[in-house]
Amino acid sequence: MASAVAGPEIERLILLLSKLPGLGPRSARRAALHLIKKREALMTPLTNALQVALDKIVVCSTCGNIDTHDPCTVCTDVRRDQSIIVVVADVADLWALERAHAVNSRYHVLGGTLSPLDGVGPQDLSIDALISRVHAEAVKEVILALNATVDGQTTAHYITELLQGANVKVTRLAHGVPVGGELDYLDEGTLSAAIKQRTLF
Ligand code: ZN
Repeated sequence: MASAVAGPEIERLILLLSKLPGLGPRSARRAALHLIKKREALMTPLTNALQVALDKIVVCSTCGNIDTHDPCTVCTDVRRDQSIIVVVADVADLWALERAHAVNSRYHVLGGTLSPLDGVGPQDLSIDALISRVHAEAVKEVILALNATVDGQTTAHYITELLQGANVKVTRLAHGVPVGGELDYLDEGTLSAAIKQRTLF
């Protein structure tokens, strides 16, 4: 066990930074040192930005997105297609789809996926709110943009069942060859999904 090389305040900063995703103890130490060296240029503005975020960030009561106002920027954007709701597990997925400019519609963040092994049931996710939205708003299509994992697909099936008879088209993301992917490097599951979901050329 390495002994501390700095005072408890700095060690605490390193410990907190090491809890961020993608930062292990070594990189947290490097980040802390960088912040300390760039005190005026980086640490002070970062401290202010964190405080503002802490004071202002709210969860959108309509879709579950994170923003500084409720309803969020996405929900209040009238240029978006109001008839399509893209269902995602997490805010990170919503942000990923927005970065890709993949769709110009609205979203619904579930807050996770069904996972019987981890004790996550329908009541733990924002599924009831989704079904209410689909019935209350003029929704024509629900796109299930969930992970291609067992939990993701279980959740997709569960929601599809609940939406039967709701007069809405339920679609899901295609599984298959990634853009720029080489067939020889793909696993058998991906290859067989790609063959099953082949499209007309
Ligand atoms: Zn929203």
